[in-house]
Amino acid sequence: MPTNKDAGDRSKKGACAMAMGWSVQCDSCDVCFEAWDDGNPWVWSYEDMKPDASGQLLPKKRYVYHPSPESYEAVGNDFEHLCLDCGKADHYDVFKFKGEGRERPQCVACGGGNVYDVCHLGGKKCPGCDGGTLRDDFSCTMIS
Ligand SMILES: [Zn+2]
Ligand SMILES: [Zn+2]
Repeated sequence: MPTNKDAGDRSKKGACAMAMGWSVQCDSCDVCFEAWDDGNPWVWSYEDMKPDASGQLLPKKRYVYHPSPESYEAVGNDFEHLCLDCGKADHYDVFKFKGEGRERPQCVACGGGNVYDVCHLGGKKCPGCDGGTLRDDFSCTMIS
């Protein structure tokens, strides 16, 4: 049954540009993720560049978070994703795979396409145990 609390969370989220985080937990094992709805946006940093093996100077990734105005200039956004086939959790750049026209990245571990970002795991089958379901837990909502 939907509760007023759910609706309240959603309207709060729409009303401001703050980042919101919550936890995603399996209902039968201790698998638990922290989900942030704006991911980990990053820019290329041209300060303190390090040369690669061929001596070419390469910019470095630098993460920019809310409320930094730089987060609007992000050229990539690493979201934590979970592979529902093999259970591998990793960060994938959503700008990159969406730029390639893909809805979801390919799992780095098993090559499967059943990889979801942690903000969209609620209701999915837990890959860490038999029969568990992943649930969004908004009771400990975090704001940054
Ligand atoms: Zn589980
Ligand atoms: Zn996988």
